[in-house]
Order: sequence, then structure tokens, then C-alpha cells
Amino acid sequence: MSTTLYRKYRPSDFSQVIGQKHVVQTLQNSIKSGRIGQAYLFAGPRGTGKTSIARIFAKTINCAANLETKFPSGEPCLKCDSCKTILDGRSLDIIEIDAASHTGVDNIRELRETVKLPPTSLKYKVYIIDEVHMLSGGAFNALLKTLEEPPEHVVFILATTEVHKIPETILSRVQRFDFTRLTVEEIIERLKQIAKLEKVSVEPEALEIIASSSEGGMRNAESLLGQVIALEDKKITAKEVEFILGTVSEKEIADFVGQLVAHNFPAVFSRIADLRESGIDFKNFGKSLLNYLRQMLVLKINPDLGKKLSYELTKERLGQIQKQITEIEIDAILDMINILQENTERFKNSQIPQLYLEASIASLTVNSGKSRRAEAAVSEVIDASPAPPIATQINNNKKETAEIKQAAENKSFKTSAEPKKELAEAVKKEISGDDLELVRSRWLDIIDSLKSYNHSLSSVLKMASPSLIEGNKLIVKTKYDFYKDKITETQNRLTIEDAIDKITGVNLKIKTLTEKEFQAEYPDFKEKKSLLQEAVDIFGGKIVKE
Ligand SMILES: [Zn+2]
Repeated sequence: MSTTLYRKYRPSDFSQVIGQKHVVQTLQNSIKSGRIGQAYLFAGPRGTGKTSIARIFAKTINCAANLETKFPSGEPCLKCDSCKTILDGRSLDIIEIDAASHTGVDNIRELRETVKLPPTSLKYKVYIIDEVHMLSGGAFNALLKTLEEPPEHVVFILATTEVHKIPETILSRVQRFDFTRLTVEEIIERLKQIAKLEKVSVEPEALEIIASSSEGGMRNAESLLGQVIALEDKKITAKEVEFILGTVSEKEIADFVGQLVAHNFPAVFSRIADLRESGIDFKNFGKSLLNYLRQMLVLKINPDLGKKLSYELTKERLGQIQKQITEIEIDAILDMINILQENTERFKNSQIPQLYLEASIASLTVNSGKSRRAEAAVSEVIDASPAPPIATQINNNKKETAEIKQAAENKSFKTSAEPKKELAEAVKKEISGDDLELVRSRWLDIIDSLKSYNHSLSSVLKMASPSLIEGNKLIVKTKYDFYKDKITETQNRLTIEDAIDKITGVNLKIKTLTEKEFQAEYPDFKEKKSLLQEAVDIFGGKIVKE
């Protein structure tokens, strides 16, 4: 069924070709002006119409009706004998060679012999060599010999998906045409026509799912539509297509991300539960989600790339992304990508398919809540207060943070913190030598200082809190084993210790424990209020959302 659709609806003249306007126009112009080349190279991804256009070209230059009138329309008539024999695949003068299966030098040698013979019934003998990059070195040499002096009645059309594998000697003897992937809109248009001809009704959203799953190749799209038509009734819905292809629609992904951007986490979790119930493939979902975030990032960095994304997105979807990125910072998108990527890797062998997703969202909840709220509260306190001791200290910290941030941005992070040690010492004394207080009060700065240096480590550190100092050991508590593992990795641990030293002037060794381990080891431990909370208590400020 799937190949049938592709064969059945193969375009038979140039007007039926979808996309590749630049190729079609140039070819038609050369036909109309009677300047027909002897060797062409069609390069481009699979299923973008290379072989179809090669056949139409072969038909047009051989069309008996057109030979007399010198090709005024640049189209084959499709009615004369030549057109008909080519349409039926009966012509002996159109020779299609699949280099993927005829890789030997012998086949090309044979070709060199037969090339000399005149066409049996048509004006031109046309050799269409598909996947020409598969030819061996010897075969390429043999082909080159033929291309150097082709008989007048012969036209070569070489097609390839991997043009970089074609030797320069061949490239210099052909007219090259680059085929582009088809846009999602182009594919949808074509699928609509086919569905109509097949007398099935397909929901627009269902066509969009098929089109965006086909990676810009019409053959992929038609084969997917074929599978769907073969399995379903005469009315095909988006839900059915999602189920058959094990994927979700771009709309679904866009809505999901919309909730994420709005920090509507409860809604996100209930959506995951719904998806679980509908039996979607969470691996595919994760892939689509990452791809969507990638598209957001690309557009956020360079809004002009919207045009390029038309290979992947409809105009409507593009508009949706463009709106969403006005509500989110690059950092936040990067955070999502990092966390999602890490958790996908971490949970890839999990028995619970949606776990990576839930863990990721949980991390995002904490990230977007805790750190930003804390930052906001600090600036609130500073703005609202005169300058008693604690505020002074926070102020100093803030000033210093700005400097360190600047240093990190200048990528001189490693050496720039030396003179700040003194200042840090002073700050340290001011809060009566309480190292833990100091580390805690600067924890966000420590995280921040790592950001430009190792972004994923800084994200992980957000999930940990400094809880206790024992001798020269800083006990850091974190909820999950995988955060502990990450922080404990030697290189990471040293990096964090270094950052703490530079920012607070306190030399500490880090020991990381999960919450469970911490409880077991320090059963009597009572959490001390953080400096931030104390500051808030003193000044009556409120911890506000960002
Ligand atoms: Zn004809």
C-alpha cells in the first residue's frame, strides 16, 4: 500500500511537481530554448523528487508532439507514443541504473559499450543513475571516460543523496541541481490532494502530524499516509494518526511547552498522566519536545531563521513559538534542554517510561521557584532597607557578585577572584565567623559563578543545599542519588570547592549526602534558618515570585 501510493501519484509532468521550483524552472527554460545538456547531477535528500523530475525531463525532451513544435510549453504531452511508452516504463531508451545495486566496474563498462548504440525509438537515450555516489572508484573512472566524450544522442542524469562523495572530476563535467527538503506546508498540500483522490477524509491536524514526521521527504510522507489509510476507516482523525505513528502532534507539544513557560506545573503533570493513558511513546515525545525547545532557542537567538524552520513547522505553529519565546529567557530554555537531555540519558533504562519527564519537570519547578524567588527577595530587602549590619553585608555581597559575574563573563574566572579574598574575609568576620552562614548567603552566587563555566553543573548545584559544616567539611544535602553522583565526581567536586573558596574565602571540602543519608547520619540535626530568611524576618520583607 505504501509504495503504491507513491507510485500511483508520482507526478507525470512538471506542473504536478511539488516544491523544487528553482530546479523545474531552470530545466524548463533550457528545454524551451533548445539548450539541452548532456550530463546533469541532481543532489538532495531522499524523497524530494529527484527521480521523478529526471523521468519528466526524459519524457519532455523525447515527446514526439514537442519535437516538431520545439517544446513551446516545456511540458510533455503525455499522449504521444513516446510519452506513453515512457509513462508505462516500456521504453528501451530510458535506462535506469540503481548504483546501490550495480556497483561493479563491469556494469559501467557495459554501459560504455551500449552508450555508443543509437536510441531504438526515441530522440535521446537517457541514463538515469540513482545513488551514483555508491559507485566504486573504478566505476567512477569508467563513467568519467564516458562523460568526457558522450555521444550526441545521450543524456546522463546522475542522482545522489550524498553529493560530497562524488569525485571532483565528475562534478566538473555535470550541471548540478540542488534539491531542497520540502516544507511542511508543501507536503500537507500534496497529502490533501492524495487524500481527496483516495476519497478519504483526513483531519488537518492529522496531515500536519504526518507532514512533520516525514523529515521533508515526500516519499516518507506518502508512505506514512499509505499506512494510515490502510489501517483506518474513511475518516482519519489526529488521535488515530498519533496512535499509529506512536507520536504526538506539534500542537500537543506546543500546548505542553505553553504550560511549562507559564509555570503551570500541576497542569503539566496532569497532561503527562493523560498522555500515559493514551499510550503514547514517551521516547518519541521526549524527542519531539527537545526538538521544539531547540526551535524556540534557534528563533530566540535569531528571529530571521523562521524561514528555515518552515521545513519543520507550519505557519500557525511558527506563530505560536514566536509568541512563546517572548515570555521566556534564553537561559530558561537552555535549562529545560539541559535538564531534559540529562534525565533522558539517566532514565533510559527505567521501567517507567514517563519518569525522565516527570523528574525533569520537578527540577524545573524547583529551579524556577527557589532560585529566582530568593534573588527577588534579596533585592527586595536591599531596596527597602536603610543599612544595618546585615543589609550592609548583603549589599557588599551584591557588589562583589556583580564583579565576579563580570569576571566570569570575561572568561577570566580562574584568576580574577584573588583580590576579592580580602573583601570576603571582611564579610566573613562581620557575620562572626559563621562559615556556614557565609556559604549559604553566597550559595546563589556560587551557582551563578559556575554557570558560564559548566552550565549543567550549575543546574545540578541548584538542587543541593549546604546544610552543615564539620571541621573543614561542608555537608551538602540533595534529594536524589543522581545529583549526589554528579556533585561527587572528582572534577565537579574540585570545581565547586574552588568556587566556594573564591567567593567566600573559606576553604572547604565538600561531602554530599542524600536527604535519607543525611537523616541517618545526623538524626538530631535541626535546620537553621537561612540568612535570607533571617533578613526577611528582620526587615519584614516578603519573599515574592519573580
Ligand atoms: Zn508526448
